[in-house]
Amino acid sequence: MQRNALSRRSVLSLAGACAIAGTGATAVGGAQADGTSRESFTIREGTAEETTVYVTSADADGPTAVVVGGVHGNEVGGYTAASAIADWEIGAGTLVTIPEANAVAIERGTRTDDDGIDLNRQFPEGREPETDLARALWSVIVEYDPDIVIDLHESTGIYANDPVDGVGQAIFHSDGEAAAAAADAAEYVTRNYVDDRSLAFQTGPFSSSNTDPRGLLVHKAARDLGTDAFLAETLSTDVPLETRVQWHSAIVERLLTDALRLEATDGDAESDDPDEDTDENETDDGDETNEEAETDDADESGDEDEAAEAPVASIETCPGNGAAMALESGQQVELDASGSYVQGGEIIRYEWDVGQTAQFDETGETITVTVGANARDTVVLRVTSDDGETDTESIALSTD
Ligand SMILES: [Zn+2]
Repeated sequence: MQRNALSRRSVLSLAGACAIAGTGATAVGGAQADGTSRESFTIREGTAEETTVYVTSADADGPTAVVVGGVHGNEVGGYTAASAIADWEIGAGTLVTIPEANAVAIERGTRTDDDGIDLNRQFPEGREPETDLARALWSVIVEYDPDIVIDLHESTGIYANDPVDGVGQAIFHSDGEAAAAAADAAEYVTRNYVDDRSLAFQTGPFSSSNTDPRGLLVHKAARDLGTDAFLAETLSTDVPLETRVQWHSAIVERLLTDALRLEATDGDAESDDPDEDTDENETDDGDETNEEAETDDADESGDEDEAAEAPVASIETCPGNGAAMALESGQQVELDASGSYVQGGEIIRYEWDVGQTAQFDETGETITVTVGANARDTVVLRVTSDDGETDTESIALSTD
């Protein structure tokens, strides 16, 4: 997938990350195999807008996530991914999927329905949605009161800070913690699934309530319900459908994997790295029982195993507060990852992606970067624990 520019070390790291996802999922799968319930129902039944809502509930308590596709009928990557996501296995919480939100527009293969109504403008904040379909979709969301809402879309242009020119290859997000989650997902999908650097995923905040575009489903979810909301946009121009579906799936997987303890899905992320299975240290599922045994005495609650062992990446800057202060182009800033930690273990590797290149080609507990010397002043740190688990943290150095 990644091409010649990727160093050998990076390939091994990538394999490690994939292996971790597989290992964790295996452990979860056994525990929840008979503890998951699936149901589905239809909304707008008997009308041309009739569509199916899929609900998967795990025995283990956890957050509720809603994934929506097909709000725009010509954005095939989004609704194709969403219908596969409806079948995902989860280890905790509830996954609600509405793959074909706008069945009429999908049937037509157009953005809007027969009447030219753009469904993603029918969700005004603080009041009832504008159309029967929008009201039906919104009642599903209100009924399940999700912690996370993800809406999958496509765009014919790449996002470059002005939505007018396109919004592709971007994850838009609500305020607060969703920003970091979006950055992490963007970094994840770029690192694992994007060969061409010009297609690296970016993130952006939702437009404010007073600014167009207004009436978006995710805006209403965030502002009326306090949900962490995400709008994922892939580029549909000159990109094969399979690739766009893979991008959407990877973004949703990354956003939900901890919350819903996702089971690894066959045939996506994990399976297309040829190096994955050759790194026996990282992929040996047989070691799981030993690892669990080793950590048992330190761990009172079996359910918390993964959380307790996961490393936490942290970046500090010198000069301090580099992310918020105004920096001069050309100024050097030291980035210090020594505040990263893992409970009951140690960090064995510090890797850096400077300039959002989708490659972790610098290593070391501290690095020095030159502001303005890179395409983007975003730096992503990845730390790896002695158990092979990873965490990432990103920082944007502002020259504003
Ligand atoms: Zn759209």
